[in-house]
Amino acid sequence: MTEEFASRVSITSKSGLNAIYPSHDPEMISFTGGFPDASLFPTKELGDSFQNVISGKQTPFQYQIGEESEPLRNQISQLLAADGTQVDASKIMVTQGAQQGLDLVAKLLINKGDGLVVEGPTYIGALAAFDAYEPTYYTVGMEEDGMNLVDLKKILIQQHVKLIYTIPDFQNPTGTVMSLAKRKQLVELANRYDVLLLEDAPYRWLRYEGESLPTLKSLDTQDRVIQLGSFSKILAPALRLGWLTAGNDLFERLQELKGGSDLETSSLMIQTVDYYLTHYDLNEHLGKLQKSYQVKRNAMMNAMERYLPDFAHYTKPQGGFFTWLTVPEDLDLEKVQNNQLKPSFHVMMIPSTNLFPDKTHRNGARISFSNVTLSQIDLGIQRLSNGLSSGYQK
Ligand code: PMP
Repeated sequence: MTEEFASRVSITSKSGLNAIYPSHDPEMISFTGGFPDASLFPTKELGDSFQNVISGKQTPFQYQIGEESEPLRNQISQLLAADGTQVDASKIMVTQGAQQGLDLVAKLLINKGDGLVVEGPTYIGALAAFDAYEPTYYTVGMEEDGMNLVDLKKILIQQHVKLIYTIPDFQNPTGTVMSLAKRKQLVELANRYDVLLLEDAPYRWLRYEGESLPTLKSLDTQDRVIQLGSFSKILAPALRLGWLTAGNDLFERLQELKGGSDLETSSLMIQTVDYYLTHYDLNEHLGKLQKSYQVKRNAMMNAMERYLPDFAHYTKPQGGFFTWLTVPEDLDLEKVQNNQLKPSFHVMMIPSTNLFPDKTHRNGARISFSNVTLSQIDLGIQRLSNGLSSGYQK
């Protein structure tokens, strides 16, 4: 039977996406998924909002053919404007999470073999979405201030690239922020080499220190930036709500493609979040999230500083959910991880293998601090440290 599957299936099935889901083993400390802390969900407020939606309309359960999204699109437009990004509500599409945006943009632009630049490492779910369209990947290494633009330029000179995918704020998986200078240069490069940019920004509003930098979208003067946002990390992922903004032509084509995929995003969820944003204070909620995640970030940094062996390096994120661990090239973190799964270790991370399109990088790992307790952070990094030290002796 498998030989009847489309060629995209064999590529996508190797994405390793399952690795982001936490283990059911209660002893396991899981630094894997980019899951928000469930104790921070505004459960009562979202519940009240949902109740209000279903009791307030005659046919809340009917198809709405997109009509119900306008108030939420206006609210998103205002949120973006308050953050320095001017986007008309008519150019905002409410998607089923940012994940659907990744799929739609690749569906719009990528024919088999088309050039697609990604950061190395990058978001595992983006690779899973893109793989299905069988792009030719060009991977640009990550530096402390964002992707290496010297390497990017070389690629743009030599290859035909259609799209550059980037996560400028608290990148998944490295936690780094692209500097202002690089943001400006990246937009200039995209203009000069006539390439589109896909800016994925689900962690943007989870900054724990330092000043926010302008979005690529706000620096864009040629409608080259498609920007994705999400309510998953700032409200709750089960809403499955995100948004996409793009210039005129692209936007219309994307809308057509979305119709073919799902007809419409759940109008119940759209109205629930609209009600939430109208009746509750998102900024106050964000303040709560920032404080709480900052404490976890600090605990993770302290534990890493205290326990990790000298040969291990890690990023110091100013926001988001992740830090990126790097060890010498001869230490394979996939192997360390497998040893860690033995009962005595019991700690999990996401090794770098599946976070690069070529799957050859073995000495990095994403470590998430968002969905673990402070004591799990401390104990988990001790276990990891033991695993690294014993892995290095072999
Ligand atoms: N982009 C990035 C960088 C992410 O980390 C995630 C979720 N982990 C997504 C997109 C998808 O998020 P969602 O579909 O839940 O909005």
